[in-house]
Amino acid sequence: MSRHAVIIGAGVTGLSTAYHLARRSYGRITVIEKGRVGDGASSRAAGIITGLLWSETGIRARKISLDRFRELSDELDGYRFQDVGCLNLFDASSWPERERLLPLYDRLGVKYEILDSAEMAATWPDLVLTGEPIGLYDPLGGYSEPDHYVPALAEGCRKLGVEIREGCMISDFIMDSGRMAGVVAEDERIEADAVVSTVHVWTLKVLESVGLQLPLKSFIHQRYVTAPLPSPARIPAVNANPYGGYIRPHYGQRLLAGIENPAAPEFRVPDRSFRMSTITPPAGLGDAARDNLLPLVPSTGRTEWEIQKAGLLSFSGDGEPVLGPVERFPGLYVGVAFHSGGFAYNPAAGALLAGCVADGSPEIDIGNFSPNRFDPSETDAYNRTLITHEEYNETGLSRRH
Ligand SMILES: Cc1cc2nc3c(=O)[nH]c(=O)nc-3n(C[C@H](O)[C@H](O)[C@H](O)COP(=O)(O)OP(=O)(O)OC[C@H]3O[C@@H](n4cnc5c(N)ncnc54)[C@H](O)[C@@H]3O)c2cc1C
Repeated sequence: MSRHAVIIGAGVTGLSTAYHLARRSYGRITVIEKGRVGDGASSRAAGIITGLLWSETGIRARKISLDRFRELSDELDGYRFQDVGCLNLFDASSWPERERLLPLYDRLGVKYEILDSAEMAATWPDLVLTGEPIGLYDPLGGYSEPDHYVPALAEGCRKLGVEIREGCMISDFIMDSGRMAGVVAEDERIEADAVVSTVHVWTLKVLESVGLQLPLKSFIHQRYVTAPLPSPARIPAVNANPYGGYIRPHYGQRLLAGIENPAAPEFRVPDRSFRMSTITPPAGLGDAARDNLLPLVPSTGRTEWEIQKAGLLSFSGDGEPVLGPVERFPGLYVGVAFHSGGFAYNPAAGALLAGCVADGSPEIDIGNFSPNRFDPSETDAYNRTLITHEEYNETGLSRRH
């Protein structure tokens, strides 16, 4: 008899899981989405990726993502990975911590280049950097346009036989002798051999009916897009940490910039039916993004923002993603807490979750991402305490892309 997997959430994590399961000829696959495809953070992302992360598991996962983004460019109609490289900038105070990771990159065979201001100016004349930052360049990094990638991935899923149900909210789970046996969607009971929860900031609300808690914090984040520029900006994707944000080219000869907001208070999703579209960028941050980030590409002039998008980021108690099978409920899998890098993680997250679901063997060891690694009483205390993004950052756990 054919197996059935239900995936909750049609963001990039859920769609990617469905896509990779379908490629493994898993059986019947249903993605259930309470809004429309991409309704959550996925359609709001900047889509930047670097493989230069801070943990071995993260680096290995990003290697999968970088390979898969390139392959998906051939597999998905209407999508192309923008392989412009990713330049990660550091100032004198933040560089030593990153420099300590270079032996790990060397051991894992990850490519990188360390560039000084003169080298960066020579390589990217459109990029003008003040204050002598240090550049850690990832030649394999780049970005994806969510406007292209999300519909292309959904279409790719459908072509492989995946059913995507939109406008359908999961309200409960079906348990059978301690095993996850399906979901309740709009009063319909849907039986499944595997249930994969990829509901991002809705995770605590969705899982509360089975009493499962994970240490998670959410914060509002925002990004902006200029009007078309007189000429294209020839820059890589830039994680401009010393300038408080990031910047990259955008289709239509535009520029995209995102800005951090350390003062952002923790955001608590009020209920299961919450829509991310109700979030608007906090006042003043668009001006800060224009003042701090657009001067890095002076050829833009003082252009106004034509598009602005805000959404939510989700962080775990130890800063690493939460991905894999849930021991307490065999048959339940989760993929959440990808910090500011869930778009970058999605091909790997989907492939790894598909490996867990299909035969219990993801292609890399994901023990450090396990949902079972947290102490329940510590989780409870963690989730009761409200913190700001800055307080989270002070734990050293907030990372970029
Ligand atoms: C402004 C901004 C910029 C960003 N930039 C980057 C970047 O440059 N690079 C990067 O890697 N990441 C970036 N991110 C982060 C990235 O967007 C997210 O990590 C990623 O999109 C998460 O994808 P997801 O599929 O897990 O979640 P989502 O896209 O949020 O999908 C979850 C889905 O679950 C659905 N859902 C929830 N509850 C239910 C229910 N009960 N029943 C059915 N469906 C349900 C929701 O409607 C939603 O569509 C950015 C985020 C923001 C907000």
